[in-house]
Amino acid sequence: MSGKVWDELLGQPEAIEQLVRVVENRDSGVHHAWLFTGPHGSGRSNLALSFAAALECANHGCGDCQSCRLVMATAHPDVTFFSTDRVQISIDEVRELVAKASLSTSMSKYRILILEDADRMTERTSNVLLKELEEPSEGTIWILCAPSVSDLLPTIRSRTRNINLRLPSTSEVAQLLHQRDGIDLEVAKVAARQAQNHVGMAKRLATSSEARNRRSDTIAVALGINNLSSAMMAAERFLQIAKKDAEQVALERDEQEKAALLAAFGFSEGDKLPPSVRSSFRELEENQKRRQTRLLRDGLDRILTDMESIYRDVLSIQLGAGTELYNPEHQTELVARAESGTAEMTIAVLDGISSARERLASNVRDLLVLEALCVKLIFRRTGAN
Ligand SMILES: [Zn+2]
Repeated sequence: MSGKVWDELLGQPEAIEQLVRVVENRDSGVHHAWLFTGPHGSGRSNLALSFAAALECANHGCGDCQSCRLVMATAHPDVTFFSTDRVQISIDEVRELVAKASLSTSMSKYRILILEDADRMTERTSNVLLKELEEPSEGTIWILCAPSVSDLLPTIRSRTRNINLRLPSTSEVAQLLHQRDGIDLEVAKVAARQAQNHVGMAKRLATSSEARNRRSDTIAVALGINNLSSAMMAAERFLQIAKKDAEQVALERDEQEKAALLAAFGFSEGDKLPPSVRSSFRELEENQKRRQTRLLRDGLDRILTDMESIYRDVLSIQLGAGTELYNPEHQTELVARAESGTAEMTIAVLDGISSARERLASNVRDLLVLEALCVKLIFRRTGAN
């Protein structure tokens, strides 16, 4: 029997099946360390939260009880959800988590620690965690999330059970948006394609005119770069677009999270909160504030994803791949680019976008990274002067 907490996870039937079996057999013991790997957008953290909720719930993850709702709202006292805004997780942060791992639980059977971006640890920091994984505290379960197995030290990998996720297909994403969120199927398909199958991004594109404007602005600016000065201006414009997008996402997400937390405690908006739960709300607000930097980086990442969609289209035209374009509405522009260059040149641009992504992650100043990238996007129409 599997509970409702798994329902909204998409395109991961194999992973879910394995985890459901673990939950069903939890009384004969649960492995103490897990590694969830998958690309950005595959839903790693959501799967980790569902697994935690199912383990803690008396009904294997019903989705309705207070325990389930607190876990899904990242407010359960025995489930710690750690994600970082920084390029690296500090050794002190990991020490703090390890200290928490040995505390006894307050309302449920397991103490669960979810560590997002576990690839962002130096070797020294990893070793603090390794010690804990070698001599696990009773009843404690770690769930580490990372892009791939090779992002972690072999010594850590050897202690963990690996669950590998894949990026869902366009039609799976569209179906989910249609069934779960009641979005028109055709709208959902376009959004899924434009978001290159990132569920959260697809949902925003399908439901928010701000998000759609953000995307069309990004594409228009990228396609309009035709000399050095427009490249410099485009870089600045991209930064503005990302900032605005990040603010909008923060606003939407902050409200949703607060509503989820209120619902988990059984309150409605405007109710006076008893002192016993106020600290949970304070913690939520603090987390939301700390998240700002990360949201800007995510905003920049969405811009890079949109640019990628342009150059993947150009490449697909150049190679005569015959696949459906991500941006059919810009076909003329895309064909012009395809005809004026070679596939090698397009691959170089795509590599430039990947390296921009890495440089942003390693804290090179945002504007510098964008300027360097925009210079690579300068397009002079053949025959024009
Ligand atoms: Zn439950």
